[in-house]
Amino acid sequence: MTSPLLSAKDVSRSYVAGRAGWFRRVPRFRAVDGVSLHVNRGETVGIVGESGCGKSTLARLLLALARTETGTVTFDDIDLSGLSTAEWRALRARMQCVFQDTGASLDPRLTIRTQVREPLAIHRRPDPAARTQAVLEMVRLGAHLWDRYPHELSGGQVQRVILARALALGPDLLVLDEPVSALDVSIQAQIVNLLKDLQEELGLAYVFVSHDLGVVRHIADRVYVMYLGQVVEHAPKADFFANPRHPYSAALLAAIPAADPEALPKRAVITGDLPSPLAPPTGCRFHPRCPHAIARCAAEPPVLRRLGEHEVACHRSEDINPVALVPRHIAAKREFA
Ligand code: ADP
Ligand code: MG
Repeated sequence: MTSPLLSAKDVSRSYVAGRAGWFRRVPRFRAVDGVSLHVNRGETVGIVGESGCGKSTLARLLLALARTETGTVTFDDIDLSGLSTAEWRALRARMQCVFQDTGASLDPRLTIRTQVREPLAIHRRPDPAARTQAVLEMVRLGAHLWDRYPHELSGGQVQRVILARALALGPDLLVLDEPVSALDVSIQAQIVNLLKDLQEELGLAYVFVSHDLGVVRHIADRVYVMYLGQVVEHAPKADFFANPRHPYSAALLAAIPAADPEALPKRAVITGDLPSPLAPPTGCRFHPRCPHAIARCAAEPPVLRRLGEHEVACHRSEDINPVALVPRHIAAKREFA
């Protein structure tokens, strides 16, 4: 078996909350806390969880856009920490990112063609004009748009340009952070289908970060669920969606507006909101919101353990069906739509 394309082992990153003063110690909190994951060549890994659970921070760690405090990230067996500038630059061409804020990713003063060509010039690639044209065709952007400016394009077209630019250097991996969250549902479907086509044509691997499980269901091969900076479940897509093993996963799934709203039974059991990452709950971080919590859950942090096709961090994963009891206040939230 070949080693994964991208591999993170026990990575963490903390931030300071607020500013320091003369007599004030600045509290630090871990936005990502001991996460391990891997991405194989040509596959799509979904990273899901509520807003604020550390998905974007993790995406930045995977690309070495932020420094890890613990753990290591390797790409093609190369440790991303401690690379020279030249090594880093060569590797950068192979792992590209696409971030959420579609508007801010492009320069309003430059034409589409110029912007897609930019990375090719920086990396001194041969025949940049032909390559620019090729990638603009790959993302199915009509030639009549190539000499326009970003403001003359629709949201979906802008996202195609950003994708073309990310593809220009011929990467093996794209890290996509909420790539379609700002788009209308019909446009989302077009971009997701384009991503799937490109994956098939080019053999790309994707890390697809999204709070939207409905979208992840269409594209991911495997899913990682994050809660307050930690992975609480990891499973192949089919197993995850058919049979979530963590109560938090079950709650996220129940929040997807389904064609059949009765598909997942829901019962109100608990109240409370996402706890502050500054003071994460003891034991299992989900326990204050969990309908299945027992005394042990408040006392002892669960570790990620294998359970069939799943990996789950839950003390009760062997003796409960998490789908049977879903915390209603999470299920009721439609922000996962
Ligand atoms: P997500 O992408 O899942 O919404 P983020 O990774 O953006 O989560 O954020 C995780 C936590 O880290 C949040 O509490 C957020 O407020 C905090 N955070 C993110 N970036 C910074 C930063 N640069 N400085 C301080 N706190 C940050
Ligand atoms: Mg984010």
